[in-house]
Amino acid sequence: MSKACRVCHLIVEKTANMCPNCKTQDLSSEYTGEIFILNPEDSDVAERMKINKKGHYALRVR
Ligand SMILES: [Zn+2]
Repeated sequence: MSKACRVCHLIVEKTANMCPNCKTQDLSSEYTGEIFILNPEDSDVAERMKINKKGHYALRVR
């Protein structure tokens, strides 16, 4: 099981202790839904989630 950043929703390795995107340590192992954002400029979902870097994200983080 991986972890997801509570701030930007990026999914990171479970051994990670910091989000490489926003440098927060606010990570959660409880998240639901996963999405790959390949073209953040063209993605409505990315815009709604305020994602501006491509990557693997969680839809909801608890
Ligand atoms: Zn983050």
